[in-house]
Amino acid sequence: MIIDLRSDTVTKPTPAMKEAMFSAEVGDDVFGEDPTIKKLEAKCAALLGMEAAVFCPSGTMTNQIGIKILTQPYDEVICYKGSHIYKYEGGGLAGNSSIGTKLLTGNRGRISVEEIAPVIGNINDVHSAQTSVVAVENTVVREGGSYYTLNEIKAISDFSRSKGMAMHLDGARLFNALTETKETSTEVGRYFDTISICLSKGLGTPVGSVLACKKELELKARRMRKVFGGGMRQAGYLAAAGIYALDNHIERLKDDHKRAKALGNALGQLAWVKSVMPVDTNIVIFEVADGVTPEKCLAKFSEYNIKALAFSASEIRLVTHLDFDDTMLDATITSFKKMYL
Ligand SMILES: *Cc1c(COP(=O)(O)O)cnc(C)c1O
Repeated sequence: MIIDLRSDTVTKPTPAMKEAMFSAEVGDDVFGEDPTIKKLEAKCAALLGMEAAVFCPSGTMTNQIGIKILTQPYDEVICYKGSHIYKYEGGGLAGNSSIGTKLLTGNRGRISVEEIAPVIGNINDVHSAQTSVVAVENTVVREGGSYYTLNEIKAISDFSRSKGMAMHLDGARLFNALTETKETSTEVGRYFDTISICLSKGLGTPVGSVLACKKELELKARRMRKVFGGGMRQAGYLAAAGIYALDNHIERLKDDHKRAKALGNALGQLAWVKSVMPVDTNIVIFEVADGVTPEKCLAKFSEYNIKALAFSASEIRLVTHLDFDDTMLDATITSFKKMYL
């Protein structure tokens, strides 16, 4: 048995999800003729309290399209310095949108009005770039899955819009955040112009992300999806997995969070662990003890058939997901306790 905790993207579709995929009605979506994709897009728009939604192959693409349609070249986006859009999308903000970034530290990645206010460019000063978007990530992957409450998001949104800036949400794990705050997804849309959600993370589909947006942005988003090479044909087979996941895999995210907390607690007791970041959702990030490197630690893990990810020169990341159950949790903790490093 291999226990793969590298990411919540490693899951395989369940038999019931495959069944839903096999029996999907499909058509050519570039011609707007795939009924299952249309159904998924309408479902996502409604679920997020937005007017429109566009199905895409990846969360990188939905983020890049979102930022692209909210900016002009030479603009700037404000975001957390470790945010996915900046740090993990191959420099796409610069390449795809020809924009700059104003990077904030945040409180475990959660940015605030106090941090945003002083870095907004002065539009009356020709020296200054135009700061046109504030991008929020929820949950924050680089910071152990920390999350915002809707009140915190409302404060950022109200302020940013009062300064003429648009709002983008990288909600790759939005449903993990909502699981903890017990807030409803339909309340989220009002605070954003574009929202990206991933179906292939905690929700467990093999492929797919969705960009929800305002009606007036929909055509632009669809054009950019085509430009980026994301116009797919009979992709209703993939959309069917998304519909199934939204109906069946949101409720269970709390189990992933419970297991992540158990892993975090167990790691906190071990000699080869220096510190564990607070475990807020399904991501566990820990620092290895002095004299231990992540590489050495991962080599030891592999002797026990456990996979994890080196996240920096001193950190390791574990992510819980649909294919990690209580039996695997017990096996992992038992193995951790046996390890000497
Ligand atoms: C995974 C992830 C994405 C998108 O990733 P893809 O692999 O391109 O689907 C975006 N934002 C965050 C925070 C993520 O964790």
